Amino acid sequence: MPELCDLTGHDLAQAYRSGEVSPVEALESCLGRIEAVDDRVHALLLVTEGLARPAAEHAEEWFRAGEDLPPVAGIPLALKDVLTTKGIRTTAGSKILEPYVPPYDCTPWARLRASGAVLVGKTNCDEFAMGSSNENSAYGPVHNPWDLDRVPGGSSGGSAAAVASGEAVWALGTDTGGSVRQPAALCGVVGMKPTYGRVSRYGLIAFASSLDHVGTFTRDVRDCATLLSAIAGHDPRDATSLPEPSPDYGEGLDAGVRGLRIGVVEDWLSTEGVQEGVKDSIRAAVDRLAGLGAAVDSVSLPHAEYALSAYYLIAPAECSSNLARYDGVRYGLRVDGADVMEMNMRTRGAGFGDEVKRRIMLGTYSLSAGYYDAYYGQAQKVRTLVIRDYQAAFDRFDVLVSPTSPTTAFGLGEKTDDPLAMYLSDIFTIPSDLSGTPAISIPCGLADGLPVGFQIMGNLRDEATVLRAAYALEQDLGFTARPPLLAEVGLRPER
Ligand code: GLN
Repeated sequence: MPELCDLTGHDLAQAYRSGEVSPVEALESCLGRIEAVDDRVHALLLVTEGLARPAAEHAEEWFRAGEDLPPVAGIPLALKDVLTTKGIRTTAGSKILEPYVPPYDCTPWARLRASGAVLVGKTNCDEFAMGSSNENSAYGPVHNPWDLDRVPGGSSGGSAAAVASGEAVWALGTDTGGSVRQPAALCGVVGMKPTYGRVSRYGLIAFASSLDHVGTFTRDVRDCATLLSAIAGHDPRDATSLPEPSPDYGEGLDAGVRGLRIGVVEDWLSTEGVQEGVKDSIRAAVDRLAGLGAAVDSVSLPHAEYALSAYYLIAPAECSSNLARYDGVRYGLRVDGADVMEMNMRTRGAGFGDEVKRRIMLGTYSLSAGYYDAYYGQAQKVRTLVIRDYQAAFDRFDVLVSPTSPTTAFGLGEKTDDPLAMYLSDIFTIPSDLSGTPAISIPCGLADGLPVGFQIMGNLRDEATVLRAAYALEQDLGFTARPPLLAEVGLRPER
């Protein structure tokens, strides 16, 4: 029997119902794993065991009483520290929010909490979700459980690492340019970003509002469907929330891919800088999809090569506006000064890290009079062209596939001095954020002992087809490897 913290959510849900296992036992297993590995992985900024225990006990009582509970009830969960949690410190990975305790819950957590989910902790992340390696966290980096000298990806690296290492059974993160899918790829777990507006951002600490998505980290695709179903759906508190009911994503998961039209983004596979081992794994997975009866052909997204540049104008522009609220008055840190202006400047100077400052400056510049049309305006036009590329591609295909990230996990410190090299980590994930379309990353193999992520991108609102394709591939690949660290600490990672 594997450790409970290494089971999937659906395994646990079943075991709770048959009475074999209780939510308190599953929680204790996760807390034990946190104790065993988190001093090395550093996935969590806060462990909320004092709140988790009563929540798990409640769930346990309900199960014992034979109540019909939602599938997320009693499952240990972690939340990226940009998602506000009432009465629980929420820092966004920033010093400026170090003392911040939100007076309200974000909607995704409010929904999970009401369904009996058990929060084990808040996960480490790049400051305000800006980064691809977690090295921009003001609280120190996360270490990839597959190799502690490597990054877990970012910005939701803590959530990805927590799920990979068994510190939580599943987790939520956010994806503005790839921050769910890229760390999922680098940590060998499943990461999904749904359609823009599918999951409410009420209570999400904003980075770039036209790009921010809440997404899921799980150990398999079935869990992804379950967790997404629990948090998706219209929220009147978020004006950008899709005004329609969201389906149960678990339905039709096993319908297979026979006849499904799959477009392989060939240009991306031949892009310079894509690691050979990544290419090989992706090609092998594509062959498997063809073997399962999918109609595979190549597709091109001609403007996607400009997506990264457009993103690095739009995202900083929006962040420069969103982060104006951290003025030393309304939230968190205050460093006093002779007058309001000096207090404001000192607070922001001390509270924000280098990457955040870089983005605020870039964004302010690109929005300034005289430069707005040339930079921000032009980037928005490019964004429209990227959206049109996807529309044309989805006339011919049901889903598109590619690598999630050009490389496997890179070394800590390897790209910190070169922001442009760091930005390139998101070259294949950013286009889906610009177009608001759903996309998933699933592990498809190992290259030199490190996980490779396979990306499946779908049309707007069509998470169901993305999940169906992902499930079929996952079942066929049978990838169950877990980080070697788990064996090292004397635990049994195999499922
Ligand atoms: N790595 C990208 C950035 O730094 C994406 C971040 C994200 O998706 N939150 O902006």
